[in-house]
Amino acid sequence: MDLRVNPTVARLVCSRTGLKVAGEVPAGPIGLCRCCPSPGKPVVVEYDRERVLAQLTGRDLSWAFGPGIWRFAPLLPVLGVSDDYSSDIGGTPVVLHERLGAELGVDVYLKNEGISPSGSFKDRGLAVGMAFGLACGARRFCLPTQGNAGVAACLFSARLGLPGCLVYMPEGFQGCVYHRACEFFGGEVRFAGDNIAAAGRAMREALRAELASGEVVDMSTFFEPGRLEGKKTMGLEIAARFEGRPLPDTIVYPTGGGTGLVGIWKAFEELVMLGLLDPARTPLPRMVAVQSVNCAPIVEAFESGLDDVVPVTSRGTIADGLDVPGAIMGHGILRVLRASGGIAVAVSEAAIAAAFERYGRLGIPAGIESAASLAAVEALQESGAVGRGDRVLLLLTGSHLIPLSRR
Ligand SMILES: [Zn+2]
Repeated sequence: MDLRVNPTVARLVCSRTGLKVAGEVPAGPIGLCRCCPSPGKPVVVEYDRERVLAQLTGRDLSWAFGPGIWRFAPLLPVLGVSDDYSSDIGGTPVVLHERLGAELGVDVYLKNEGISPSGSFKDRGLAVGMAFGLACGARRFCLPTQGNAGVAACLFSARLGLPGCLVYMPEGFQGCVYHRACEFFGGEVRFAGDNIAAAGRAMREALRAELASGEVVDMSTFFEPGRLEGKKTMGLEIAARFEGRPLPDTIVYPTGGGTGLVGIWKAFEELVMLGLLDPARTPLPRMVAVQSVNCAPIVEAFESGLDDVVPVTSRGTIADGLDVPGAIMGHGILRVLRASGGIAVAVSEAAIAAAFERYGRLGIPAGIESAASLAAVEALQESGAVGRGDRVLLLLTGSHLIPLSRR
């Protein structure tokens, strides 16, 4: 593959201050910003409007510039991926589910990411993040994980022909399906701490020299800008799916690190910037972040009116992907919720478990995190935030097989 930075990239900026951290072609792999207090805040990619528009032949969203999610190549930071790297990523359908909708009294659209190559929506972010990292000079990747992100990272490391991804998992994950799947894709798995934050700290300590030299690049959620760009393609696909018709009133997103929530909104904002989406004629959806009551830092910050997230102590949740006690992009998540007129909602563990069973009963192959979204719809109906006949889109972030294999 001849990976290269996309000339439509205008600059990379700090998500908190907007200050430029790198121009069109970064001199090396990009990590957190240096303008904010240590360890820094996430860096995001900005595109040059005129250069993107120059590549478009029409003013619609029937883009087909490359394989898989690279159909949206003008709005991705890296070019030159091969068909075998990316053809099977993205393109997941958005389906109106009549039976579930009838039960709930709303129009329910499901976007099922469980059909992704590694079994979850993490593929989108890691595919773009690792290709972008490589284009910027990275040679090996590492990340802490308590699930799907590690598997996706190992899969794309293997597709890139790189040395195995260095994966740090909490101690309790030894022998679990994620551990085995990471090793299946050539990952080098190490165990430390009792949650993802502790595993991440151990990773940064153990790899201090390699990370400082740039020999290894940290693919943790929001620690580099490419994963957000990959997750953004969910929003581009949703906009394309509803093109010419109203977008859903509400998008419900199970929120751990929040990359997808921020990414979907980034997609809408970029389409508005390009003049391909007009919020005056097509109102943008309200974005809803769902968490477990046992680990709800976003909900607490949102309800307290804060503009950033204060880490909490997790009481543990059956939804591994939601067991994220702090969010480095908390300021970005809260901004999206407020800009979209959305809300953050916490649901009980019992409600998550009941929603998971409901998915099974209806033949919907969704994971436990996505069950939190379904539970949230009922909570939002009770509070009046979702009304009868509303059009609600639920992101099904991963396959039912993973939670069923884990327990
Ligand atoms: Zn900064």
